[in-house]
Amino acid sequence: MKQISERVQLLNEKSANNDGKYVLYWMQMFKRTTHNHALNFAIEQANERKIPLVVYEGLKFYYPWASDRLHTFILEGVEEKRGEFEKRGIKYVFYLQKDENSPKDTVAKLAKDAALIVTDDFPCFIIPDHNKAIVKKSEIPVYAVDSNGVIPMSRFEKEEYAAYTIRPKVRKMVGDYLKPFAEKEVSVKADKLKIDCPDTDVNEKTIEKLVSECAIDHSVKPSFLYRGGTENGRRRLKKFLKNILEDYDEARNKPEKDGSSRLSAYLHFGFLSSLEVALAVKDSDAKQESKDAYLEEIIVRRELSYNLTRFNPHYDSLKSLPDWVQQTMRKHIDDARAPIYSLEQLEFSKTYDELWNAAQREMVETGEIHNYVRMLWGKNVIGWTKSYEEAFEILVHLNNKYCLDGRNPNSYAGILWCFGKHDRPWMERPVFGTMRYMTSNSTGKKFDSKKYIEWTKTLGQGKLF
Ligand SMILES: Cc1cc2nc3c(=O)[nH]c(=O)nc-3n(C[C@H](O)[C@H](O)[C@H](O)COP(=O)(O)OP(=O)(O)OC[C@H]3O[C@@H](n4cnc5c(N)ncnc54)[C@H](O)[C@@H]3O)c2cc1C
Repeated sequence: MKQISERVQLLNEKSANNDGKYVLYWMQMFKRTTHNHALNFAIEQANERKIPLVVYEGLKFYYPWASDRLHTFILEGVEEKRGEFEKRGIKYVFYLQKDENSPKDTVAKLAKDAALIVTDDFPCFIIPDHNKAIVKKSEIPVYAVDSNGVIPMSRFEKEEYAAYTIRPKVRKMVGDYLKPFAEKEVSVKADKLKIDCPDTDVNEKTIEKLVSECAIDHSVKPSFLYRGGTENGRRRLKKFLKNILEDYDEARNKPEKDGSSRLSAYLHFGFLSSLEVALAVKDSDAKQESKDAYLEEIIVRRELSYNLTRFNPHYDSLKSLPDWVQQTMRKHIDDARAPIYSLEQLEFSKTYDELWNAAQREMVETGEIHNYVRMLWGKNVIGWTKSYEEAFEILVHLNNKYCLDGRNPNSYAGILWCFGKHDRPWMERPVFGTMRYMTSNSTGKKFDSKKYIEWTKTLGQGKLF
């Protein structure tokens, strides 16, 4: 593996196929046609070789937590990409692999006629393994391109300890990267290119049926609140800039209000780039305190999470926690916990704690939990399970199963934060040791928790505030 520029890694040492008919961009996580460094790099490669570009996007049925909710959200972004790529002379193929009888190995097959492969460098979940697998199968160069954040992940040389260690580095570099993105265009159009690959016809009318035909978890229903795709993300961004950003510094901590951007699902699936969102916020007329608070979240906090999963191979376990947490967990491992809840009780909001149940309901019904109650949601489970490991597993499972923005570096960093990652020791107490402690009682007094709880009870009827 060789870092060939700030955002591009060459994952193998193969020579390009000079008879290749096209450059293949395997789009995995940056599901967008603009502000996409991987797409731009693929266009450059195609133009240098004077051949067309093929963008391939696949959706398989067997990735962890595959469900109607996640599939629908992804499929909602397909038709607009097809239209956009067609206009730009780029061949776009989308293949929905419904079950084990469907054709397999489509990327490897497409690679046979390609000069080289470009793909997304996303530092967690199934993507690093996908990239290793395609390298094994390929006789041509495979490039992985980082279009995750405003600042390239390679600009940080090691795992950062906390926000206070990454923040000064971000401040120094951000001016070099928080700039308008120069989009590239292909010089050879793919209009006449014929390729042998299944291509699924996805549009608003076919999505429900297509999803029902997939061998996935049909019990997690599509979100009534969030619809996938870049256009829907941009619509929400526009509303956020116009009506919400001005008071973001305060309203973001009020789960009973529509006071934050609610863009994390669009960012996770790459429908929006954080650069596009951060630039729009920076250039808006909102008050500086709100702009600063937002840029802190979408750059400093978000990129701290990506740094964690890029550099820490144990990001999916408690092994990634710092020494002070390991020590305090060892000391308090046998502390009595009561009550103890099963996964099922937690999943179906059957605890004594009304505020926690409401957060869980929000997640199950909408595919998101508000940040403020999400912290409490995670913390409480530590006190209600037999061991720290069990708490971690349940939190990862529920978050990744129900949340549209789950399976993301922020998912692991957010859950690990509940166990002290990126935090500091606090006053010692049972079970939590010196990890920061939060109670529903005190958290619930900081906002109108009654209103929030009542709102979550109306969610089945599809109402938002
Ligand atoms: C237990 C727990 C689990 C979490 N799981 C996820 C997850 O699965 N996916 C996810 O994207 N975020 C997760 N977070 C972080 C945070 O809760 C969400 O990013 C936020 O609620 C998204 O809502 P929003 O888009 O309205 O955020 P806004 O307040 O509008 O913030 C804008 C963007 O900044 C980023 N951001 C905001 N807060 C954080 C944070 N604390 N850490 C890192 N980035 C942040 C997100 O990309 C967000 O979309 C988790 C936090 C906790 C405590």
